[in-house]
Amino acid sequence: MPKPITIEDIKVILTQPGKSRLCIVKVITSEPGLYGLGCATFTQRIFAVAAAIERHLKPFLLGRDVERIEEIWRMSMVHGYWRNGPVLNNAISGVDQALWDIKGKRAGMPVCVLLGGKLREGANVYVHADGGSKEEVADKALAYMEQGFRYIRVQLGGYGGQASQLIKPRNAPPGAYYDPRDYCRNMLEMIAHVRDQVGEEVELLHDIHERLAPIHALEFAKDVEGFKLFFLEDALAPEDIHWFRHIRGQCATPLAMGELFNNPHEWQLLIQERLIDFIRMHISQMGGITPARNVAIFADMYGVRTAWHGPGDTSPVGHAANLQLDLWHPNFGIQEWYQPSSLDYEMFPGLPVVEDGYLYPNDEPGLGIDLDERLAAKYPCQDIVEEWTQARLPDGTPVRP
Ligand code: MG
Repeated sequence: MPKPITIEDIKVILTQPGKSRLCIVKVITSEPGLYGLGCATFTQRIFAVAAAIERHLKPFLLGRDVERIEEIWRMSMVHGYWRNGPVLNNAISGVDQALWDIKGKRAGMPVCVLLGGKLREGANVYVHADGGSKEEVADKALAYMEQGFRYIRVQLGGYGGQASQLIKPRNAPPGAYYDPRDYCRNMLEMIAHVRDQVGEEVELLHDIHERLAPIHALEFAKDVEGFKLFFLEDALAPEDIHWFRHIRGQCATPLAMGELFNNPHEWQLLIQERLIDFIRMHISQMGGITPARNVAIFADMYGVRTAWHGPGDTSPVGHAANLQLDLWHPNFGIQEWYQPSSLDYEMFPGLPVVEDGYLYPNDEPGLGIDLDERLAAKYPCQDIVEEWTQARLPDGTPVRP
């Protein structure tokens, strides 16, 4: 038996090339020049993830055989006794994705080939059209169509919308106020307008972002049915998933759910009872490629397709991991895609590219992406107190963002 290649060092690289703070894990091996990259981006609590990796996972993983991904994933998950949760799962994902990257580099194969091989050459993506008025949203959607995109998420005024009139109580604290009932009316009007402008052939999506009471989410899903969305996302909060039975029983609006999920109990019921159409976990939030592979296979048996989370708070390394999964699994549905900047492409050589609405890999071994660490160091993470997550109802009550 040849001597195993082992984990020699684990580095955490925090950087902020754009709005989102990113956490990249670099696993350095005992083989000179061989390393892997993984995404551990939980942007709102980025420093907690870095500490979990540096202070807890790293001492536990140094010297381990890089080929034993399954062993490392399982033992990392239970080693702290208290398991799951966004900080730990993201930390584990950083290592897990890097180990898949290393395995691919050693084999001389992209990760999708290790998983079973390509089922498609490129992944259909959807992009975000968000505007301050329904006309602006429609214009943005039309501009995307000109660029070849066939799937477009339409949002008006950000999550929760912008209420036409907000009557707050005296001494109302600061926050991201919205009015759920106003939201329902405005979104229906916007979706009707956009559908009218863009025609029937383009696929439209919308994200409620868990902003409605369950009964109003049900009402909205029924009201929007005639506009034939490709999917309606996060109609309910993870805490309200049993309500999906009622939406399912009353309309045929396709449903997507899961970016907040980090515990298997959250997705098992929805898949087994066929209550949703798309699972869309944030791959690092669920613990990396290893659990995503398992869930994709599980969901395939129930006719549930994938739509992995992929906005700007997924790092370019995370997007490369998403794409490797997308190319392989039989139940691929759609991939969310953001608009990378030229700095993103410079900092992360190999970041996938879009053409005619398809996301393409570069077919390099592993995840096919690298990181210019010297450039990343020039863009350190800022100290940010998030404002958009301080969501409030008109009377000031704090709610889920
Ligand atoms: Mg979402």
